Amino acid sequence: AKSLGGGTWRFFSPDMARRASEQAQLEAELRSAVKRQEFELHYQPFVDLRDNSVVGAEALLRWRHPQRGMLRPDAFLGLAEESGLILPINEWVLREACRQGAVWNAAGHGALRIAVNVSPIQFRRQKVGDLVREALAESGLRPDLLELELTEGILISHDDQILGEMALLRSLGVSLSVDDFSTGYSSLSYIRNFPLQRLKIDSSFVKELAHGPRALAIVRTIIDLGHILNLQVLAEGVEEEEQLAVLRAEGCDEVQGYYFSRPLPPAAFIEWLSAQGM
Ligand code: C2E
Ligand code: CA
Ligand code: CA
Ligand code: CA
Repeated sequence: AKSLGGGTWRFFSPDMARRASEQAQLEAELRSAVKRQEFELHYQPFVDLRDNSVVGAEALLRWRHPQRGMLRPDAFLGLAEESGLILPINEWVLREACRQGAVWNAAGHGALRIAVNVSPIQFRRQKVGDLVREALAESGLRPDLLELELTEGILISHDDQILGEMALLRSLGVSLSVDDFSTGYSSLSYIRNFPLQRLKIDSSFVKELAHGPRALAIVRTIIDLGHILNLQVLAEGVEEEEQLAVLRAEGCDEVQGYYFSRPLPPAAFIEWLSAQGM
């Protein structure tokens, strides 16, 4: 045990020491992963419920770790944010997604919208508008085919600088969606203040659709709210036929989930797309 002064004692167990050294190890590996380009993007389709066509895809980050294999973001995103490494990683994600989107759209797969996840820390530390402008210019991707997925954390901060960046992004023609949308009080106050195009219903509500009327009421409320505010509504995490049927009946615009496809590496995504006749 170690005294922190003021009568406060904190205990460091061997377990905590091991965890701390594992974290340090992972951070060193993450740093070299940025240099060695060990990241890739997998793509998960968005399906339009009007005609069941594929209208786009979300780019999801993966780390091809030399020893541990393919890692999903939950394994390293927290550390990436704490260490600031999320900034170069997300910059790469943005450029790579734009590049890939431009290639697919030039190859005649229809106009596919490409969605990229943005971290709150990115909005605080970088000029996201400038990064996006550069990524668009460099790739030649049509701006209206790029969408940025923002979390509520970015939106509830009531920050003038963020509002300014969002206005700039809109002026570039890029669209903005709210990821993991819920129905909290804060949600209701910010969505009318920001220049948004889409709400993504959190998968937890979709998951509960089969378990009674509460989730259905929430999903219906989000869809109606979105439509009243002139926003498109997409439901995430659709895994079952029954969930799809309910979402369709409720007038949801788009869906995404394992029912259609898991996130796929680029070549597999294009194969999947071709199998859908696109
Ligand atoms: P998210 O943005 O909410 O992405 C959706 C997550 O749900 C993805 O997990 C996706 O693989 C998973 N998913 C999709 N459909 C289904 C389904 O039907 N059932 C279930 N159980 N899961 C489904 P993933 O790829 O592990 O990503 C986790 C989170 O990491 C993302 O959540 C996002 O917040 C973050 N993330 C992913 N890529 C990036 C990135 O490039 N930059 C940043 N900053 N964050 C990212
Ligand atoms: Ca997302
Ligand atoms: Ca989400
Ligand atoms: Ca999520």
